Amino acid sequence: MNQAYLSLGTNIEPREAYLTEALELLEAMGRVTIVQRSSIYETAPVGYLEQADFLNMVIEVDTPLSSMSLLEYCQSVEQQLGRKRGIRFGPRTIDLDILTFNQENSNVERLIIPHPRMRERAFVLIPLQEIAPQLILPIWEKSIAEMVLDLPETDIKDVRKWTQKGSVEE
Ligand code: ADP
Ligand code: MG
Repeated sequence: MNQAYLSLGTNIEPREAYLTEALELLEAMGRVTIVQRSSIYETAPVGYLEQADFLNMVIEVDTPLSSMSLLEYCQSVEQQLGRKRGIRFGPRTIDLDILTFNQENSNVERLIIPHPRMRERAFVLIPLQEIAPQLILPIWEKSIAEMVLDLPETDIKDVRKWTQKGSVEE
């Protein structure tokens, strides 16, 4: 069995329904088991700023799939949820990224793991810290909790725990 951490993000309504459906579709084939899930966070867009806020979360999964098959599977879930590829980093119904896969390093263009941008993304590290603070990624020689400490204050305050009633200050 392989262990992976995945990140989910959406900024097209109904955002929460897209997250819920993505989790259901991931488990639907019996090839992926969700072991842990973070809270849902509402986050300000990064990179391309002229778009709505995101809901983000991170999950830990067990799977017999290889990392490449897991990527293809994640992309099929994105397709089923109607994701259209437009602006890079732009609005999306669901974005499913592989953050880590066992202790593997992969550097082919289609699959780079650990995910190269996760270490500067508060919207990934803060949810991940909730379920895996002690996880150490050998290439960076740091735990997730240590990487969160390296984030700029301004990025941290853009990531807030979310409930159905609205966002709640951390
Ligand atoms: P982004 O997630 O960066 O906003 P996309 O979801 O459109 O952008 O992904 C762009 C490409 O990134 C995909 O075609 C995929 O093959 C590639 N990719 C590379 N590494 C990963 C990874 N660790 N997880 C998911 N996709 C990845
Ligand atoms: Mg992606």
